[in-house]
Amino acid sequence: MELACGIVRDLLPLVVEGLSGEESRAAVMEHIAACPECRRVKSQLEQDAVPEFAPETPLQAVKNEIVAKRRRTVGIAVGLVLAVVFCVFARLTEPVRLPYSDDLLTVDTLESGDLLVTVSQSHAGITVEHTGVETTLSVWKNALSPQNDRETLVIPSEELGSALYYADFAGEDTLIWGSTTADGRQTLPRLVLGYYLAIAAGMAVILGILAAVCRKTKIGKLLLYIWLAPVCYIIAHFGVMGLSTVTADAVRPLGWILVAAASLYLAAVSFIRLVWHKQ
Ligand SMILES: [Zn+2]
Repeated sequence: MELACGIVRDLLPLVVEGLSGEESRAAVMEHIAACPECRRVKSQLEQDAVPEFAPETPLQAVKNEIVAKRRRTVGIAVGLVLAVVFCVFARLTEPVRLPYSDDLLTVDTLESGDLLVTVSQSHAGITVEHTGVETTLSVWKNALSPQNDRETLVIPSEELGSALYYADFAGEDTLIWGSTTADGRQTLPRLVLGYYLAIAAGMAVILGILAAVCRKTKIGKLLLYIWLAPVCYIIAHFGVMGLSTVTADAVRPLGWILVAAASLYLAAVSFIRLVWHKQ
């Protein structure tokens, strides 16, 4: 049977995929043997054909779906539990800064000229900051982590400077040793977590709008995943810090916020993939 080139070109994809009937296939092969142009088209089609994986049996497909669903459900549960554990642990182990009082600590001058600072409270530890000219102390207490080994502290006189202060993040620092000509001195709390929270909120708004605008596209899906990052950070911030954004020490809470946010992110991504899979 003589076939026109146009008909052969229409049939070629079916022949290459092995989906044509025997009669069509024989007719196409007969034409190709005599037509170099159609032969070229056929070899091009064969190159483009994606190598096929072993076809899934319906049972295998169901099994795969169950495994994927279970994995996502586990991801949601593990992420949520970890996030809660991290937030609770961060709060329980949060050091509490003790305000200055006369009986909080004693300062003795040793023969060597060093100062011996003794904190009266058990489960409390001292942090020291040298600024070169002056030294600032603060005392932290935590019910869960005993810090008795830091009850006493010797400060070498060279590092001490002319004055020793007790930091009060709410008001003026208290001079506890030495003399100073300065009128008042303040140790400011760290505001950096508040800035991070504001940046995360701004990113969440912008990315949220972009993701909503392109929600039908692949970029929209990608934006949704990116949008989740600042949203998880914001939730983790409230989980670890409550409504506060001001802290005397920013490093410790930031660490807890980041691990809690990462756990939430795992849960959120698992949830989205579970929901999308159902659709
Ligand atoms: Zn032809």
